Amino acid sequence: MASLYVHIPFCQRKCVYCDFYSIETVALMDGFLDALEREIVLAAPRGGGATFGTLFFGGGTPSLLSVAQLGRVMSALRGAFAISRNAEITLETNPGTVSLETLRGYRSLGVNRLSIGIQSFNEDELRFLGRIHDAPQAERCVGLAREAGFSNVSIDLIYSLPGQTAVQWDATLARAIGLRPDHVSAYSLIVEDDTPLARMVSAKLVSPNPLEAEASLYEQTMGVMARAGFEHYEVSNYAMPGYRSLHNSAYWSHEPYLGFGPSAHSFWTGRDGEPPLRWSNIPALGRYCDMLRGGEMPVASRESVTRTQLCNERIFLGLRSAGVDLSVLEREFGIPADRLALADALVEEGVAVLEGTRLCLTPRGYLLCDEIAARMMV
Ligand code: SF4
Repeated sequence: MASLYVHIPFCQRKCVYCDFYSIETVALMDGFLDALEREIVLAAPRGGGATFGTLFFGGGTPSLLSVAQLGRVMSALRGAFAISRNAEITLETNPGTVSLETLRGYRSLGVNRLSIGIQSFNEDELRFLGRIHDAPQAERCVGLAREAGFSNVSIDLIYSLPGQTAVQWDATLARAIGLRPDHVSAYSLIVEDDTPLARMVSAKLVSPNPLEAEASLYEQTMGVMARAGFEHYEVSNYAMPGYRSLHNSAYWSHEPYLGFGPSAHSFWTGRDGEPPLRWSNIPALGRYCDMLRGGEMPVASRESVTRTQLCNERIFLGLRSAGVDLSVLEREFGIPADRLALADALVEEGVAVLEGTRLCLTPRGYLLCDEIAARMMV
């Protein structure tokens, strides 16, 4: 199954921790959409023959799109690619940007999954993060999503904020679960380079949480989510049965995808034994639009993915999510026997289990995921 990703590069205001490419000049949206339509048309031949099972609008803040603007993009995509009739179509939504009418409009265009960026239900934390919404708006957004007909609603949360206590995080988790979402993504706060948060840390205005505190909040998350009936199916993702993100699962199992918009990434399987290709778009709106006006694809970098890279990514992505199929590693990549023997050691250490030939991490293993992946990689 192939996937499509569209990056909407605008935000009403930048959050202090965010390193995704987006700008605050929302007035440039229509000019961007002209360029995006060109990019989609130029990319159509590459996607010919494939059926796309998922489409994801990320960013940035895709919920800044009016219904008419989203309609333009959907028409361009449907004109260029074979999108499955029952495709999962997700739109990332900021609770500070939506109304019932807009959500109904998105739904009528075929969007069937909302991913709502809430991050916290604690007002001090929301202010610290630079979010444009408060907790009641976030709660209202989930209610509006249901009223607009969305039966698949995901909530994004962030934990391990500087000084965050277990009690504070528990309160956010409880309010999130109380809204009965179908899916929750809970990420630890990362201090990304070149963000206002990184500058605050350098100036010693805030101190990142120690690793032990972060690990303890992560263990708390796993326990709370499991007791609430969620399946922990990826390091940071929890789903009610039947509600795993098909789009992200496709990334994690190395399915091909085409990305559009500034900074979007693509991964596409080679033809006739050629290695797969990976490329990324220019992360600058002006240059992106100029290149497309000149009939050029807005690509910043391109690489062929080697077999070793593919094997290591299969291990890393698999361990983080549904597990690594050892028989596939052996058959497709001829992985050395000592790495396969390592699987038995990991099971003995209690950080992994074997389900048939698939090596899956336990909750304790998720805590050590990067370390375990480094031990297995070739
Ligand atoms: S709204 Fe999302 S994409 Fe925009 S700055 Fe905040 S975290 Fe980043």
